[in-house]
Amino acid sequence: MTVGPLGRDDETATFLDGTARGELLLRRCRDGHWSEPAAMCCSTCCSAELAWEAASGTASLVSWAVTHSRPTDGTADTHRVLAVVELAEGPWWWTSLADVAPEEAVIGLHLQVAFERASDGDEAVPVFRPR
Ligand SMILES: [Zn+2]
Repeated sequence: MTVGPLGRDDETATFLDGTARGELLLRRCRDGHWSEPAAMCCSTCCSAELAWEAASGTASLVSWAVTHSRPTDGTADTHRVLAVVELAEGPWWWTSLADVAPEEAVIGLHLQVAFERASDGDEAVPVFRPR
């Protein structure tokens, strides 16, 4: 499976520093509500005071789609399972599934985050595997 490149800039640096350490960082307000990394304010109470905090990395499968590609070099067809997962902390997350055949995907599948790099020097990107 391959993952796409993810660019580093001022908006993504803290998140990508976390993925480099093997942490999935989310935003959390003082009241304990979790929001996705790009949130400008809490998705529950609208507080703008958000801190970075590592999520557990566990999730369950909500929905998915399978993309297929046929290489022109005669090698076998490949597929990729793109998914929406619900993190244990609550936010939903667009991702790719690793080590999941399309016929193995079921709603509620228990997943664990893993981090993959498209190639050496690329940023670590979160993907999810069965747990
Ligand atoms: Zn909140």
